[in-house]
Amino acid sequence: MYFVLNFLLATASSPSEVNDNGACPVPPLPKHLTEFYINGEWVAPHQGGTAFNVINPSFDEPVATISLGSQPDTDKAVEAARKALPGWSQERSLDERKIFVEKLLNIYYRRSEEMAQLISAEMGSPIDHARDAQTGSGSYHMEQFLRALEHFEQEQLVPGVHPDEASTTIYLEPIGVVALITPWNWPMNQVTLKVIPALLVGCTCILKPSEMAPLSSLLFAEMIDEAGFPPGVFNLINGDGAGVGSQLSAHNDIDMISFTGSTRAGRLISQAAASSNLKKVSLELGGKGANIIFADVGSDLEEVVQSGVWSCFDNSGQSCNAPTRMLVERSVYNQAVAIAAGMTNGKDVTTRTANTEGDFYGPVSSRAQFDRVQKFIQLGIDEGAKLVAGGLGRPDGTNGKGFFVRPTVFADVTADMTIMEEEIFGPVLSIMPFDTEKQAVEITNGTPYGLTNYVSTQDPERRRRLARLLESGMVEINGVGADDGAPFAAVRASGNGREGGVFGMEDFCVLKVVSGE
Ligand code: NAD
Repeated sequence: MYFVLNFLLATASSPSEVNDNGACPVPPLPKHLTEFYINGEWVAPHQGGTAFNVINPSFDEPVATISLGSQPDTDKAVEAARKALPGWSQERSLDERKIFVEKLLNIYYRRSEEMAQLISAEMGSPIDHARDAQTGSGSYHMEQFLRALEHFEQEQLVPGVHPDEASTTIYLEPIGVVALITPWNWPMNQVTLKVIPALLVGCTCILKPSEMAPLSSLLFAEMIDEAGFPPGVFNLINGDGAGVGSQLSAHNDIDMISFTGSTRAGRLISQAAASSNLKKVSLELGGKGANIIFADVGSDLEEVVQSGVWSCFDNSGQSCNAPTRMLVERSVYNQAVAIAAGMTNGKDVTTRTANTEGDFYGPVSSRAQFDRVQKFIQLGIDEGAKLVAGGLGRPDGTNGKGFFVRPTVFADVTADMTIMEEEIFGPVLSIMPFDTEKQAVEITNGTPYGLTNYVSTQDPERRRRLARLLESGMVEINGVGADDGAPFAAVRASGNGREGGVFGMEDFCVLKVVSGE
């Protein structure tokens, strides 16, 4: 996610040649498509599992068939993780666990082209984007956790107590067996944000990737196997939310669920966790980021607006932290709308099949996403927003089969319109004017979400005020991304997560207070 803006700024130029007439390509597939990785082995699902087609969204054609598991598979994976826990958490030191992750990272570098091909085929990221941003996010997170490890303290003193007088040590211990449930939109970003810190601090895990984009995780499991992690430390089962997802959430022998996905599923998981063994639940959920642009940006207006549009459309608008609501101070509002509409209607914003090289947008990830985005565009029109770019249907020049949507810009949106309130998860930008700073803050905080908000202003006092007043886990000011090791943080209906760096490792720990040792 940290890559989105940088990647876009680096690639926001010349479109490549249109080439949408090819057949659906089949990438080199993982070896064990219909099996699960449990206790260090590839095993067949209970009673063969349920066959599930993974669809290439550029062509609406199956690229592979996987198996969805059931309760016996879930139980088997949990049992393996539980059995492996004492050896991994107590008999291996942090340094030893680090060596396994370093091996994994080297394998990941070596097989990164395979990873990019799979991500592109399973969820529609254009191949160059899949290489740089999607696959790159996985290696980036492994690297940043290895760096953060230098600052992770397994034993701490009570703050304020002088070491000579301290009688108490706070141990940060691995929470235990963790289930990791991930979405399809940034597959390796999410998988590495969870698996790596969990394993480093000494947890054992069961990964359930999205059934829509499981191929990258199957390859990731092959890499884990090659790196030689002890059996049971990492387990993977495929399944859907109603099946394996719910079974993990309700399982009495799991100590924590780390979930990234929709607010809807986050609620169900929290309920299941509360009614079972009260396991810890860490949630990274949806978002509806505002991008507040003040007139004092002056001559930077064009760059600021363009950067906001690219960020909104990146990954075909399927990023939880996308700045989908652009709030512009009224005196420069018309200018901002003209810039956003001009670039979206221009030749640089193009859409193609994901296997084509170059800088463009791919399809959205599934028919369900396509229908959802169409529904929201129709709602925008019906509720009276002014369509200034894009609209319903597929973009010209695409193959007529894939789930391609037209990058769309609505102007004159009002705060009560559905497109301003609900997460669309497609390349749809809503722009509205504001008159005062207070009004901009109220509109920004007016959705239930609280993930990332963006502010552009030259006024330092205003920057400090807004950083405090905006109700979100992250506030990005003047396009400056967070430092290496800063967590991806969420509040309100966007969840309670803190993924990345030392914070992300501590999230997989429990505190034990020991005095008089
Ligand atoms: P989703 O909630 O439908 O599915 C996510 C995962 O949860 C999948 O693995 C799915 O099988 C599983 N799942 C679904 N229902 C479940 C249930 N009842 N119990 C247990 N597991 C269940 O979400 P999605 O469509 O895959 O992903 C898109 C959503 O993810 C968007 O809302 C997006 O904003 C959010 N997201 C958030 C972040 C973040 O860091 N905050 C990052 C990426 C995506």
